[in-house]
Amino acid sequence: MDRLILIRYGEIYLKGLNRPFFENRLVNNIKGALKHYGRPRVYKEQGRIYIENIAIEGSILDSLSMVFGIVGINPAWKSEKSMDSVKAMVKDVMVDAMEKSTKENPTFKIESRRADKTFPLNSMELSREIGAFVLQNFKGLKVDVHNPDIRINLEIRECAYAYHENIPGAGGMPVGTNGKATLLLSGGIDSPVAGWMIAKRGVTLTAVHYHSFPYTSDKSKEKVLDLCRLLTKYCGSIRLYVVPFTELQQELYEKCPDGLLTILMRRFMMKIAEMIAIREGSQALVTGESIGQVASQTLEGLASTNDAVDMTVFRPLIGLDKVEIMEIAEKINTYETSILPYEDCCTVFVPRHPTTKPKVKAVRDAEVLVDGTVLIDRALKNVEVFDL
Ligand code: ATP
Ligand code: MG
Repeated sequence: MDRLILIRYGEIYLKGLNRPFFENRLVNNIKGALKHYGRPRVYKEQGRIYIENIAIEGSILDSLSMVFGIVGINPAWKSEKSMDSVKAMVKDVMVDAMEKSTKENPTFKIESRRADKTFPLNSMELSREIGAFVLQNFKGLKVDVHNPDIRINLEIRECAYAYHENIPGAGGMPVGTNGKATLLLSGGIDSPVAGWMIAKRGVTLTAVHYHSFPYTSDKSKEKVLDLCRLLTKYCGSIRLYVVPFTELQQELYEKCPDGLLTILMRRFMMKIAEMIAIREGSQALVTGESIGQVASQTLEGLASTNDAVDMTVFRPLIGLDKVEIMEIAEKINTYETSILPYEDCCTVFVPRHPTTKPKVKAVRDAEVLVDGTVLIDRALKNVEVFDL
């Protein structure tokens, strides 16, 4: 019996005339996610995406469950529309369902949908006949229409399809349908989560990381590359800019008031990211900041950081507690990598007494104590670019 995977998608339905654009993007993103798995045939038909010519195995289903825009994944069977073929197919589906069931004698239900109105039985009649067939062929099973252990979905379209498993998709919208943003990606827990949340809404990501060699090691850079690679499973390919930050930090450390050091550093991070964002055609910056989490993330701190750039800044974690952020990091599998103990550039030049209520004017005045233009130019000249 032919196997295939059915993909259901939700929110992109709502997009009216743009619908084909969203659907085509999703089809392409699915192809991208499966590029290491041979040459699957991925196509759309009547509000559904079908994946054929593919093995149905855990790693493939895992990859699909990370593609934004997918609501549900159904490993399915396909047959001709004759009753004999449909019955043979349902038998295979039932055997698989029973193998996977934890119950000795599971209850079941057949749910039919007849999209092809020329099919001789209507959905009620079809469910009844197939239900009777299952009862005859599998001893000890019972029907439960309200709360079945096994629910077999049967659909009559251009072919007949059946499935019993529904794997939840990642939700959101297909990456590439909602513009582009540049993520300030540290090696910490927060920023990968922030990037994931923005990408979930269909936004393509580019990332920027500030590296303070030799204060931060090659290992800390590798860690950020790894985090970025983990994100690509959701976001598709990501271009990562690694910007040397040591000289800027040293200058700030020597010339500016100690209490403002972190804020000034953050402002330069934003400025450089904005320049890269413009070069990349991004429309926004993304950070992992959350109100009050550290001294630089008080409302005054955030205002002073924001003041450094004109571009829109998204802070999707702004109202989340650290524990909530950690839960998402675990769910999206970035947590383990984030907590590896390599130095981050922010922890190298930390002020002894950070100002928690910096005034924008004071920060601006302090900033001109270094030659920002020259320092930024030099940092950008030595940037490393990774296409992940
Ligand atoms: P994270 O857990 O993501 O490191 P954090 O709680 O440590 O965040 P900060 O170090 O104050 O907070 O950084 C706030 C935000 O600034 C980060 O979420 C990230 O977006 C950005 N950022 C911090 N350090 C770097 C860096 N080295 N490179 C790029 N962006 C950075
Ligand atoms: Mg950090």
